[in-house]
Amino acid sequence: MARILIYDPYTNQISTYNRNESDPMPYSYNTTLRVREFRGSSNSPTLWTTTAAMEAWNLTRRRYGGPIHVGYAFKRIWEGGHGTKSQHYAGVAFDVGQGQGSSARNAIWNAAKNTGAWGYVEPQSMTPTWVHFDRRLGTPACSGTTSGYPTLRRGAVGVYTLVMQDALNALGYSTRTLDGKFGANTESALKAFQRSVSLTADGVCGCNTWNRLTNAALGIGRTGTVIN
Ligand SMILES: [Zn+2]
Repeated sequence: MARILIYDPYTNQISTYNRNESDPMPYSYNTTLRVREFRGSSNSPTLWTTTAAMEAWNLTRRRYGGPIHVGYAFKRIWEGGHGTKSQHYAGVAFDVGQGQGSSARNAIWNAAKNTGAWGYVEPQSMTPTWVHFDRRLGTPACSGTTSGYPTLRRGAVGVYTLVMQDALNALGYSTRTLDGKFGANTESALKAFQRSVSLTADGVCGCNTWNRLTNAALGIGRTGTVIN
């Protein structure tokens, strides 16, 4: 059983769904993406993604026209396994095609690319035994890069706010709720973290704060301070 938070960038709202592991993901096409496939090895009771990522999945799946093996999509930041600002932590990245033949993987890669719906489709030379694509949103806080998370401030809603809340909670700075809404409690927690690492406590999660926060949260492992 999973509690699934779906952020809709068109309405800027988050909706909550309760689903069993064998159920399709909300907004996914038919039974092409089940909850257990989306979560992979993550044990998190709470999962999150966006309607935009689900749409990109649906377009890819229809264009490919056959079953796609989904290794996983979602990871919480403290579960690790990726770089500091992975889109997997935001629930908008997929690693698929593991165990399928190279011609199938080529076809999946082309289908994903041709939809034009993903923000990024990883070159096959970088991931020869699987296909990574993600539906990233926003402008990265750190200039000069096309990856990374956008600047967040009070009022920000969405999957990047969830990543930030999750990282803060993992480090012991409680946001009280894990809801993807940057409110007063989240701002207090962020300021406390900023003070602890000698950054200006402005309550804005920009490039420097993201760097310090994600580096600190990554690899911390499972912790009793995490809010579900
Ligand atoms: Zn990946």
